[in-house]
Amino acid sequence: MSDADTRADTATADPTGSARLETQVCPGCRAVLVAVPGPASRVPGASASCAALFEVTVRGLREEAAQDVRTAALLQLATDAYAAQHLPDGEPAAAAVLLCLWLERGTDPLRAGELAGRVDDVAPRLPSRPARWTTTVADLAADLDVVDLPALVPSWADAVWADWGPAHPAVRAAADAVLAAGR
Ligand SMILES: [Zn+2]
Repeated sequence: MSDADTRADTATADPTGSARLETQVCPGCRAVLVAVPGPASRVPGASASCAALFEVTVRGLREEAAQDVRTAALLQLATDAYAAQHLPDGEPAAAAVLLCLWLERGTDPLRAGELAGRVDDVAPRLPSRPARWTTTVADLAADLDVVDLPALVPSWADAVWADWGPAHPAVRAAADAVLAAGR
């Protein structure tokens, strides 16, 4: 046995070493995830590990979105579902308004860029956010082995929208104002 092997064995057996991973609770979706090294999250309202997990989960969609409109629409839905679950404190709920447009008003998610200004104008500041979330990006990532994103993302978005239930009247009114302004 070489010295290197001995050191490797010792490291593996060390109960206070790398086996004890630090976790962090996401302030948005409250998923408990292993903390990732590096700077704090660049996504307001999300832990760094949650934001990183989302990026890994949708990486394939990002790579294909430029070539395929259905993938681009799916990526938009995923982006807004994630944002609606990670609304920073005090910010208008623009992502919830977008989810309402895509899921309840049949608006094409590819119109997101065109509608963004109007959505920002009318998005309500909601007094509270859902107490619990049915599905998080951690659930999504865990299911990805057996179900693919075109099935997972819409059901996740539906769950996020349903979790926002008490705010539906205010969000629907804003979504309809967006559509009325476009007529
Ligand atoms: Zn999160």
